[in-house]
Amino acid sequence: MSPTIGLPPPGTERCLDTSRKSRYRGGTLVAEEVRDVKEHLRRLAAPDEYRPCSCARCGHRRLHVHSRPERHPLGEPSLPPAVMILQFRCANEACGATWRILPLFLARHLWHAWRAIERSVSSAPSAAAPSIAARTRDRWRARLASSARVAVAVLATSLGIMLEAIAKRVGLLGTRGELVEAYVAMTAASPGEQLSSLSALVHRLERGIRLM
Ligand SMILES: [Zn+2]
Repeated sequence: MSPTIGLPPPGTERCLDTSRKSRYRGGTLVAEEVRDVKEHLRRLAAPDEYRPCSCARCGHRRLHVHSRPERHPLGEPSLPPAVMILQFRCANEACGATWRILPLFLARHLWHAWRAIERSVSSAPSAAAPSIAARTRDRWRARLASSARVAVAVLATSLGIMLEAIAKRVGLLGTRGELVEAYVAMTAASPGEQLSSLSALVHRLERGIRLM
């Protein structure tokens, strides 16, 4: 189940809504409903499935496929070594914003796939999974031990009752790790999608805010 309690749904099958207009010349939009590589490949083959309904910067309703960059997610055996993604460009010449569309399972700023990160930072990492360098894992854990203030403030001012409750539970002095715990406790986020879905949610509410 997608963690959208109290919020508008994250877009229909064919439409990627964003909650705010961007101050930037584009960026990344997360297709929160694309949870596995099979669905991702299906949409790559039919780019309309990934094409935003309108430009999240200017609202123009035509966007063209601009490029097909590759991502190389590390540490997750269920993913191929290279995953193509789509980048769209707004057809409004005065705007020209470009939007990369990421499926839920690819992390925005990290080299590893979300599943690999979640497995690695959990207290009971799977022995069957590829090992992650201790230095890398420690960096992620340090990130989770850092303040969640900004993300909590974003959740607290969202219009979702459940999200406000999560924010209240964590408080402005809470850590990102505590935010993850509260989120998991209060939503139906599945193992393997706990970090990815929370990260996507926060990014949707205030583009650019990072969980990790
Ligand atoms: Zn535009």
